[in-house]
Amino acid sequence: MASIDVIGGGLAGCEAAWRAASHGVQVRLWEMKPEQFSPAHKLPTLAELVCSNSLRSNKPDSAVGLLKEEMRGLNSIVMAAAAVTAVPAGGALAVDRELFSREVTRLIESNPLISLIQAEVAAWPEGEAPVVVAAGPLATESMVTLLGQKISSPNLHFYDALAPIVTRDSLDFSKIYSANRYEDGEGDYLNCPMNKEEFQLFLQKLLEADEVVRRDFEDQRFFEGCLPIEVMARRGPRTLTFGPMKPVGLDNPATGRRPYAVVQLRRENQAGTLWNLVGFQTRLTRPAQTEVFRAIPGLEKAEFARFGAIHRNTYLDAPQVLDEYQRLNSDARIFVAGQISGVEGYVESAAQGLWAGENAARSALGHPLLVPPPGTAFGAMLGHLRHNSGRKYFAPSNINFGLFPPPPPEIHKSARSAWLLETARRQFSDLMRSIND
Ligand SMILES: Cc1cc2nc3c(=O)[nH]c(=O)nc-3n(C[C@H](O)[C@H](O)[C@H](O)COP(=O)(O)OP(=O)(O)OC[C@H]3O[C@@H](n4cnc5c(N)ncnc54)[C@H](O)[C@@H]3O)c2cc1C
Repeated sequence: MASIDVIGGGLAGCEAAWRAASHGVQVRLWEMKPEQFSPAHKLPTLAELVCSNSLRSNKPDSAVGLLKEEMRGLNSIVMAAAAVTAVPAGGALAVDRELFSREVTRLIESNPLISLIQAEVAAWPEGEAPVVVAAGPLATESMVTLLGQKISSPNLHFYDALAPIVTRDSLDFSKIYSANRYEDGEGDYLNCPMNKEEFQLFLQKLLEADEVVRRDFEDQRFFEGCLPIEVMARRGPRTLTFGPMKPVGLDNPATGRRPYAVVQLRRENQAGTLWNLVGFQTRLTRPAQTEVFRAIPGLEKAEFARFGAIHRNTYLDAPQVLDEYQRLNSDARIFVAGQISGVEGYVESAAQGLWAGENAARSALGHPLLVPPPGTAFGAMLGHLRHNSGRKYFAPSNINFGLFPPPPPEIHKSARSAWLLETARRQFSDLMRSIND
């Protein structure tokens, strides 16, 4: 009988196992809990939400809502368990963390095709069956070593320093100007100029803002080249204006003068719909980020497609080491799923696991593997793992509409969301037909 091994019983691993079993494939699901726990995991059960209990927006017109809709279409175990363990949370889907984890465990244990093996994997499972690695961002050292032997080490990252990303449509271009430093090139950067008073107000807000409480296992030391913006600010009033907010070579065309400080925004995607705040990696809480960064001229109404964050995060440089089916380029037996594959977030990890389970099962059955169309939420999310949009380093991303192929220019701004949703739903129907063929 066709079989696969899945390493890690988190969100991605449970989805992969569930999906593969739905194709009649036998699954060995390896989970080290409750014998061994990562520093963030506490519950003995599967699919543990390690931090927030929110699976974010449930609204069908949001990108993450659309991803959930597609997951439901593919009989996601995470969506099924969330439906019966939800707690009221406005437009968001939030769950009772313990009930949710217990419900996923119950479903997995009651599936006759899935055998749960409670042990740490420290060597590749024997045999030829496809393996799905879904060991998460806090995978054990042995797992990281096994992966490291299959790829070159610069392609495994251990530290995630994320700057916030804002949507272009939410920026105030009456205050922002395009320019590269010293007019070198075409004006690829967007620049938010500050006078002295604006900078001092911003600095004061930054110094007073709340930071995320650090966990015991998170290293207090930061790389000098990647310091959180608030840590730099504490070093002295001019540290930022000599660092990431340096104004030299960025004269404001509206005044013909050099501003006191400048926040630069760099394009995050090829479509130019998303921009990141250069050098603004941060540990501030999300409400604090909203308040502090909206004090930057031009960002008063900024919508955040991703908030800044710094935490340990083991993930692959996906565009370098994975193929279009999320298999290692160096070993087609091994699929990589969840956060360790380079996606970001609970929902994305679960969805990516589901898709890895689909293709691992197809591989075990000798069926052709599938790539979801680019305009679906699955396709957009997986597409991000295929290219790094010209960036020097690959960075994980939450699902957002900036990852979808943009509508043609003749589509009016007010009709863009509807166009994206309509395209996604049409392409998802095509995908379902290919799966069922
Ligand atoms: C501290 C922290 C907080 C986070 N908070 C949020 C948040 O609030 N919201 C959000 O959307 N995302 C958050 N994330 C990011 C991410 O969405 C979650 O980490 C998510 O749980 C990833 O799902 P996963 O299935 O890839 O990994 P996990 O859910 O971590 O599952 C991996 C599983 O593999 C097991 N395992 C590891 N190594 C082995 C091994 N060698 N053998 C057998 N089993 C093994 C682990 O015990 C675990 O059960 C957070 C990440 C971290 C590290």
